[in-house]
Amino acid sequence: MSALTSSCSTLAAMSGIFGLDVKLIDLAYIVSAIFFIFGIKMLGKADTARRGNMVSSIGMLIAVVATMLYAGLDYTWIIAAMLIGSAIGLVAAKKVQMTAMPEMVALFNGFGGLASLLVGWAEYERIIGYGWEEYLVHTQGEFYFSNIVIWLTLWIGGITFTGSMLAYLKLSAKISGSAICFKGQKAFNALLALLMLAALVVMCVVPCFEVAYPAMIAIIVLAMMLGVFGVLPIGGGDMPVVISLLNSFSGLAASAAGFVIGNNVLIVSGCLVGASGFILTIIMCKAMNRNLANVLFSGFGASEEGSAKVEGEMKGVSTEDAYYVLEAARSVVIIPGYGMAVAQAQHAVKELGALLEANGAEVRYAIHPVAGRMPGHMNVLLAEADVPYEQLAEMDAVNPTMEMVDVALVIGANDVVNPAAIEDPGCPIYGMPIINAHLARTVFALKRGKGAGFSGLVNKLYFLEKTRMLYGDAKATVSELAAMFKEK
Ligand code: NDP
Repeated sequence: MSALTSSCSTLAAMSGIFGLDVKLIDLAYIVSAIFFIFGIKMLGKADTARRGNMVSSIGMLIAVVATMLYAGLDYTWIIAAMLIGSAIGLVAAKKVQMTAMPEMVALFNGFGGLASLLVGWAEYERIIGYGWEEYLVHTQGEFYFSNIVIWLTLWIGGITFTGSMLAYLKLSAKISGSAICFKGQKAFNALLALLMLAALVVMCVVPCFEVAYPAMIAIIVLAMMLGVFGVLPIGGGDMPVVISLLNSFSGLAASAAGFVIGNNVLIVSGCLVGASGFILTIIMCKAMNRNLANVLFSGFGASEEGSAKVEGEMKGVSTEDAYYVLEAARSVVIIPGYGMAVAQAQHAVKELGALLEANGAEVRYAIHPVAGRMPGHMNVLLAEADVPYEQLAEMDAVNPTMEMVDVALVIGANDVVNPAAIEDPGCPIYGMPIINAHLARTVFALKRGKGAGFSGLVNKLYFLEKTRMLYGDAKATVSELAAMFKEK
């Protein structure tokens, strides 16, 4: 979806000059919109997602080629920009680790927003060239509409740009990932929003560019500030929601840019990204058991005060002892988390799962909706390793059965199995549903050491009497266990 947004913005930069037969270009745009719709639909299932991406890309290719065929475009700038952008994109795509994809998505969203903002700004600069009287004539009675869509492009694009950059810094741990709040933050953000509205009024009612132009620049500055101050108080476990909301915003910014330059495919594709991103945001909120307003404005997770003190110690176990317990187990639930992605242990995990099954155990993989660092992260990894779909179990399906499970094998998961989320009202992730690993008869937790999860909290699960820690890189530990099953 983010790739689609970035491409939308590229298209925005290229469009705006008309010459090709309008009916033909509209037909090409309708065809590409159909490709986008089918592509997005196919993205909804793991087995068709790859093809869905391809179908959307073909749609974008059709739209780009059709736009390029407009007469009067300056190809020098377009080709130079495409070459530079493609080179950067290629290197970034080759270098990026799977675990760094959320950061990459945040950057995509941010640059998509920035591109839309620049389109709105450039259009305003262009119409300034006419002079005020000419501007009124040029906008042909659509003066207010044209100002409003430019305003929308600037503020949604600006918020998306700086908000995504901040999300990138938080996700990549370049700054603290927790919520940063200050007194009067909400009032300050409301003031920024009001000032943006006031600047729009100035743009619309003051009949000279000497006043309207600074108001337009003020909107850009205020929107960028709102992006920063809007994302600052969001942190910890709420970051997935913010990422998908910013993704939605980048689509809306592109759509607004489509209105600014009168480009139909940009309007349609921007709306598709905006709507699907928003649906995903709502799904993520439900997964976190929160509502959107609460995620955006509550400053949840700003402090770790109130989180329960954990007593006792984490007890290690050897892989050999763990093997004997697993060998006797009749039902095993594997709970993967971010650590499995870091270790790239999915293939080894699938092999161990198959060996456990061959040994007579019922094996299921319990998937938490926000495990890992992006929506569907665990589904993608397990699909890549060809884990059978029927073994994947949603959190709601697996939780009622956890008390009957012999072994919960927690592989690099931490926050998504932290009982504090359901037991400790003072805890920053309180309210987030978890996979109830603590209810299984025995828990083996695979992690490298005593590192915290994304929220930075201590996990009571690791201190329970029934829990044993299998220290080490998840891939190495799982491979060792698999080797023991194969030997014996
Ligand atoms: P966590 O981030 O809570 O925990 C991951 C654990 O993996 C760490 O405690 C770490 O411990 C361990 N680990 C790291 N590397 C390895 C390795 N090589 N081998 C074994 N273990 C390893 O992950 P969860 O999946 O449980 O939770 C996801 C969190 O991320 C949630 O808080 C969620 O809200 C948040 N989030 C989710 C997003 C999404 O869209 N899914 C996006 C942004 C944030 P140690 O260092 O000791 O090894």
